Amino acid sequence: MQKTLVLTGGSSGIGLAIAAKFETNGFNVFNLDIQPGTFGKFIECDVTNHSSVQNVISKIAEQHKIDVLICNAGKHMSADIEGTSEADLLALFNLNVKGAFSATQSVLPSMKAKSAGVILYIASEQALVAKTNSFAYNLSKHALASMAKTTALDYAKFNIRANALCPGTIETPLYHNAIDRYCEQSGADKAAVHADEAASQPLGRIGQPEEVAAMAYFLASDEASFVTGSLQVMDGGYTAG
Ligand code: NAD
Repeated sequence: MQKTLVLTGGSSGIGLAIAAKFETNGFNVFNLDIQPGTFGKFIECDVTNHSSVQNVISKIAEQHKIDVLICNAGKHMSADIEGTSEADLLALFNLNVKGAFSATQSVLPSMKAKSAGVILYIASEQALVAKTNSFAYNLSKHALASMAKTTALDYAKFNIRANALCPGTIETPLYHNAIDRYCEQSGADKAAVHADEAASQPLGRIGQPEEVAAMAYFLASDEASFVTGSLQVMDGGYTAG
């Protein structure tokens, strides 16, 4: 029977690669995003809107058994705690954390009813270590790690697994926009910043979205049937040192 994935933020970067990987492998993919994407069925949905997420997911659940939820939609913000306004903090949390909360809460009734399900949070290596000038983003990714662990514990009895995937630096539009902003502010040369970023990873390069998608596919599969409540690091060795 065809399996169903509900994915947030599947129109760009890591989400796009995840949508492609699952669709290519026969999944029925629903992509909840604010902009159209190339893979899966696009459903316009701003994940910061709780009732919109609830409505969209309950409609999908009426017609399909949702096997996998991947909470990926998120954005980056460069600022220390003093440089973070209350409005910026709330906006980032609304997307990176509350969006995942809304999607998780919405899929759980149908997953419980079927006694099966896999939930994945695309967190970050920043769920494990801090980086400078990354106060709110770091906090939001630690919160996702917590969501994976508490959800794993509370719903293990329903055979629902929850994990956080923690990628290091991955080459996506988010990454390029962050470097562009940094170069605009500092006057640094983009090629040099990109090369430095690659050199700071033990493997000597940054990661590709397809590598994250491969890990997500494994974690969603029965090959990972005993993996729950975990933080799965894939960062070219960055946090090993
Ligand atoms: P991206 O900017 O390329 O893609 C983000 C996607 O989320 C886009 O399709 C965007 O339209 C969508 N989105 C944004 N706001 C939304 C909203 N309100 N509702 C629904 N969808 C929304 O970013 P990316 O680099 O692919 O990042 C995806 C996830 O991976 C993020 O959670 C990010 O924090 C995480 N991550 C990225 C990296 C990296 O280096 N790129 C590393 C670790 C973790």
